Amino acid sequence: MGAAERSKLLDEILELGDEIFGSGVVDTIRECLQCGRCTGSCPSGRITALRTRKVFLMSLLDMRERLLSSDELWQCTTCYTCYERCPRKVKTTDIIRIIRNIAVREGYMADAHRRVAALVIKTGHAVPIDEATKEQRRKLGLDEVPPTTQRHEAALKELQEIVKKTGFDKLVGFDWAKMDIVT
Ligand code: SF4
Ligand code: SF4
Repeated sequence: MGAAERSKLLDEILELGDEIFGSGVVDTIRECLQCGRCTGSCPSGRITALRTRKVFLMSLLDMRERLLSSDELWQCTTCYTCYERCPRKVKTTDIIRIIRNIAVREGYMADAHRRVAALVIKTGHAVPIDEATKEQRRKLGLDEVPPTTQRHEAALKELQEIVKKTGFDKLVGFDWAKMDIVT
């Protein structure tokens, strides 16, 4: 593919990827030879429509809207199996994370991920402590709640300030009055 024909989406991936991970990470997408080992290794792909190889092909072919708006993009569990197995050392999972970042900026995000974002904003945790875990901690002689944002209100407030200042709340559609995401 000549420079003039280069995928616009690819340019976006490379630019944001360099900004977040530094150089030499996401540009490995150019090394993808479409062998499909990533797809064959993907635990999520066994039960979902996610085809990892296809994600990279769609990026290289500039199928921007179709890829950014796809459900499959959010079916990656970031397990890094494909990352370890790629024969060309393509930094697969990191590339998928960058594509997701671009998708979110365009207003696409899976509801399940929005709900996790809301938990982080409300509690400081993607998986807040529940009663069963508290009970286990009690039995182990530990404090019921660990020394995190769930115990330290000042730390949670700090985190929420960061969320506001960075605009993460707007990005995920968080409503402070309802203390939840707007769907
Ligand atoms: S395993 Fe690597 S080279 Fe093969 S299709 Fe996946 S990303 Fe491309
Ligand atoms: S990191 Fe994502 S795409 Fe790669 S194997 Fe795991 S679930 Fe599949």
